[in-house]
Amino acid sequence: MKCKKCKENAVLADPALCKKHFLSYYEKKVSDTIKKYKLISKSDKVCVATSGGKDSTAVLYLVQKFLKPKKGQLQALLIDEGIAGYRDHTAKDLKKFCSENDIELKIASFKGSFGKTLDKILKSGRIRLKPCTICGTLRRYLLNKHAKGFDIIVTGHNRDDECQAVMMNLLRQQTEILARLGPMTGMAKRKGFVQRVKPLYFCSEKETALYALLMGFDVSFNECPNIIDSYRADVREMLNNHESRHSGAKQGIIESFIRELPKLKKQYSGSGPAICVKCGEPSSDKVCGACSLAAQIRTCSNTVRI
Ligand SMILES: [Zn+2]
Ligand SMILES: [Zn+2]
Repeated sequence: MKCKKCKENAVLADPALCKKHFLSYYEKKVSDTIKKYKLISKSDKVCVATSGGKDSTAVLYLVQKFLKPKKGQLQALLIDEGIAGYRDHTAKDLKKFCSENDIELKIASFKGSFGKTLDKILKSGRIRLKPCTICGTLRRYLLNKHAKGFDIIVTGHNRDDECQAVMMNLLRQQTEILARLGPMTGMAKRKGFVQRVKPLYFCSEKETALYALLMGFDVSFNECPNIIDSYRADVREMLNNHESRHSGAKQGIIESFIRELPKLKKQYSGSGPAICVKCGEPSSDKVCGACSLAAQIRTCSNTVRI
């Protein structure tokens, strides 16, 4: 198959583009998303949530390219959950990438913040929640805490991630959470809450993997071993099966969702995070999810420093 813009061989079938034209197509899509949804302005202090995987490395690279940051304007933040055989590898890749690209990297860990690695928390068997629920709550807490002083947190969520989130919240009848999705996360600017944005919102998982591969990013394409035990994995499988039989289904979900999103945001504009009475971080309940989890972790550890 040939590139639709030149005579070179295509690296992707849909759209049919060669390496050079695919890279500029992908980068334009990200930069158009940033501009259309006003996700980042050139003067913003930006914290990029990174894992060392393909998505966050791609977004980190593109944000650096977009910002041309001055000293102190861009920080990569890695949350080390303590997942043996997985996070240690991606952390190594990320350290190398940040050092080669002159990006400041900050690392915060579950062990340092809650006294235990995720592996140990799961092994204790004391908390009756799915691994991804525990991990997601603690990660979001640490991301927000360590991004204080920055204007925004950039995440590497791609179109497939968003499709899964939309579908999961529909299936669980969580329309209020649905209203918090979109390229710019959350309901409104709230005290203590660092705005999160998703520049890869319209880029598929496949496109992002191809971009990382063609750019030669030294990243692992392995995924977290805990995902197999999650609701998300079931929804992802369902969506992938559907897409393979009905091409364009995921794009359809995202386009329908984004059309309805302003109405959802308006409907739930009065709700949103208040402040946790224990830690002062944003929370939809009196005590935030991270503080309740930390209390449970404390029952099998005396070293919690939250
Ligand atoms: Zn071409
Ligand atoms: Zn709290």
